[in-house]
Amino acid sequence: MIKPAKDTFENQRRLMVDAQLRTRGIRDEAVLQAFQAVPRELFVPCTHQELAYEDQPLPTKCGQTISQPYIVAVMTELLELSDRTERKILEVGAGAGYQAAILAEMGCRVISIERLPELARFATDNLICSGYAEWVSVYTGDGCLGCKHEAPFDGIIVTAAAPEIPPALIEQLKIGAKLVIPCGTQAIQELQQVEKISAQEIRVHHGIGCRFVPLIGADGF
Ligand code: SAH
Repeated sequence: MIKPAKDTFENQRRLMVDAQLRTRGIRDEAVLQAFQAVPRELFVPCTHQELAYEDQPLPTKCGQTISQPYIVAVMTELLELSDRTERKILEVGAGAGYQAAILAEMGCRVISIERLPELARFATDNLICSGYAEWVSVYTGDGCLGCKHEAPFDGIIVTAAAPEIPPALIEQLKIGAKLVIPCGTQAIQELQQVEKISAQEIRVHHGIGCRFVPLIGADGF
């Protein structure tokens, strides 16, 4: 008798990587491998585990969201980490900790700042359960200010919608490194890749449209 294929999370993960990421143009093999390895089901609330690999954002806690896998992949790819040896990354908005786990899986040391203490705890717990806690430090605070004592960074990723690029983040970025940030209004943003050309200059590349929860803080909404 032929048994139906078991619908494991691993199968769902493989399908997600092929259908949602590879076919839509994610090319960086290190990024694709990280998505194949990180158990996304451990980063969504238990009530939504069955939806963990769907092509959509999911609610987490305190009215916040865990981004759609494709958006997490695009942002990760835009950091252009592959050819870098040192990789200390700052994340603003730890949320559920999924983005941080993807970066940790790629060999990065991650400093992640979360405004809401309940979510900082949620991210920390999820990172412990999934085995990534050793590579990620989660702090509670206003990520608009960055993290001076850990700077400079080889990449910075902001996972909440910003009205403008927070100046402290540009200051804390290494020359040649990238800052990825959704910039725009609260209703709609575009994904920007900001390249630090010199101590005084940046170059902004304008990317796809997206919709994130708002950045709240010194340079937020
Ligand atoms: N990267 C997360 C998703 C983040 S959702 C993941 O992979 O799961 C956006 C998060 O940004 C929310 O948790 C929100 O509380 C947080 N946030 C908003 N403004 C912030 C600020 N100024 N500093 C740090 N975190 C902030």
